[in-house]
Amino acid sequence: MKRISIEDARRHVLEHTATLEPEQVDLDDALGRVLAVDAVAPNPVPPFDCSTMDGFAVRSADTGKAPVTLRLVDEARAGRAAGATVEAGTAIRVSTGAPIPGGADAVMRQELTSVSGDDATVTIEETVTAGTDVRVAGGDIPEGAIVLRAGTLLTGPEIGVLAAVNIPRPSVVRRPRIALVSTGDELIEPGGPLKPGQIRDTNGYALSAAARLAGAQIISRVKVGDDREATIATLREAMQGADILATVGGVSVGPHDHVRPSLEALGAREIFGRVSLRPGGQICFYVAQDGTLAFALPGNPVSATVSFRLFVVAAIDALLGRGRAERRTTATAAVDLPGRIGRTTAVRCNAELREDGWYVAPSQSHQDSHVLTSMLGIDAYAFVPEDRESLNAGERVQVEFTR
Ligand code: AMP
Ligand code: MG
Repeated sequence: MKRISIEDARRHVLEHTATLEPEQVDLDDALGRVLAVDAVAPNPVPPFDCSTMDGFAVRSADTGKAPVTLRLVDEARAGRAAGATVEAGTAIRVSTGAPIPGGADAVMRQELTSVSGDDATVTIEETVTAGTDVRVAGGDIPEGAIVLRAGTLLTGPEIGVLAAVNIPRPSVVRRPRIALVSTGDELIEPGGPLKPGQIRDTNGYALSAAARLAGAQIISRVKVGDDREATIATLREAMQGADILATVGGVSVGPHDHVRPSLEALGAREIFGRVSLRPGGQICFYVAQDGTLAFALPGNPVSATVSFRLFVVAAIDALLGRGRAERRTTATAAVDLPGRIGRTTAVRCNAELREDGWYVAPSQSHQDSHVLTSMLGIDAYAFVPEDRESLNAGERVQVEFTR
């Protein structure tokens, strides 16, 4: 079967994906969620004119002939407004964040003043202009302004802004629900001893973590042996209520590879069956009868992780309506990068920023698709095109940062 390009495969994934419905969450639960609608500020920030300095609220006109001594009539602090107003010839002591008292139009910072011993008067040493050291209401965020766009990932600053404008329960996109199925008679959980021929279910853990990092929710994670009937039953059940089904292993054409025939037996429609990608090109993408997106990933842990990253995370992003900027850029090969004719090779790389831009080099020399340690600490995939056996040091290469 013809292998399609990474870009075409992603396009197919996006064609079958639409943003999920919104739900409201408390701000404390909003970390890592994606905003479902534009956030319009119900309140301005700051909510009132306030002082940016410790000092004295004055009428700027009174300082025209500085030095001048003004009578102190009150104090305003953060959280507590003054009772009095500033009349001609008077001033009110203010702290940073205090509401500007009525009548005042400027703040004289404390450093440029001296207060009489009995706190009755303040002598202003310099002239101030109206507005000096006053932060005006709505100057940061006017009421009614769009502060965050739909599709924005909520992290610390975004959540802080939502609190500031008084949106205590933002509308976020529901987390995509993912069912993970590891296939293979050889797989067991970490914990107990290995029997001959057994290995640990590495992918179940790695992909579950990757899915959660991408903003999805794992609704089930199961293992199934290399048996056709059991695979059909497991996949049927796993798809219930899932937006995405991701299986690992059993996608080749060997006698013990049951995933693709099982998906077909369940009526899923194949969208693509091979991608020009190494490792990970064995990924297949189906749409099930109930609309579940089904990704059949190859079993080798690096292949599984790379194909998950490039395609399943793209689907998660699209379900979240996340406007993730295109991650691809170009870098320079710091050393020769290995490729293979007929397949785009994703070389696991460390990236280094030099004076003339990013340079990439393989994370370690051993990059076989079962060597999961080749993924540890990497910064980027570098894509050696399918018509090149290798790229030479100094050549430009397309890269995708992985963190
Ligand atoms: P398969 O795609 O089922 O032919 O598997 C290819 C290779 O990946 C075999 O060596 C499997 O033992 C291994 N493998 C498959 N699934 C997993 C898994 N969940 N964790 C670790 N290795 C796996
Ligand atoms: Mg297998």
